[in-house]
Amino acid sequence: MDSCLFCDIAAGKIPSTEVFSDEDFLAFADIDAKAPTHILVIPRRHVAGLNDLEPEDADLLGRMVLTATAIAAEQDLSALGYRFVINCGQDGGQTVPHLHLHILGGRPLAWPPG
Ligand code: 5GP
Ligand code: ZN
Repeated sequence: MDSCLFCDIAAGKIPSTEVFSDEDFLAFADIDAKAPTHILVIPRRHVAGLNDLEPEDADLLGRMVLTATAIAAEQDLSALGYRFVINCGQDGGQTVPHLHLHILGGRPLAWPPG
């Protein structure tokens, strides 16, 4: 695999504003926030994106969502709500090919997305 930006962030080679860390996941502030709260949750293991998930990754993905809901609660987003986004591929707007879940909140979010 060529170098991966989010693997480098997970390894601490590139600094980030860390929000949560455990042995499987890292969460950090998005460098270009699109909402008052904009946090990215990534698995430490490199998975390029949704298309690369295997059936055995169901547990990983489930725990990733639960990690993100816990972070949303810690960020005081639970009452008014928030949005999780996982962009996939060119049309989905994915720019970093390492699976990541966006937590967006702190303002009303328009629907549908652009
Ligand atoms: P995507 O467009 O792939 O769904 O989301 C990638 C996200 O990563 C974007 O929201 C972008 O602002 C964020 N991002 C890109 N480079 C960096 C970086 O070096 N550090 C951080 N913290 N976020 C980044
Ligand atoms: Zn990676």
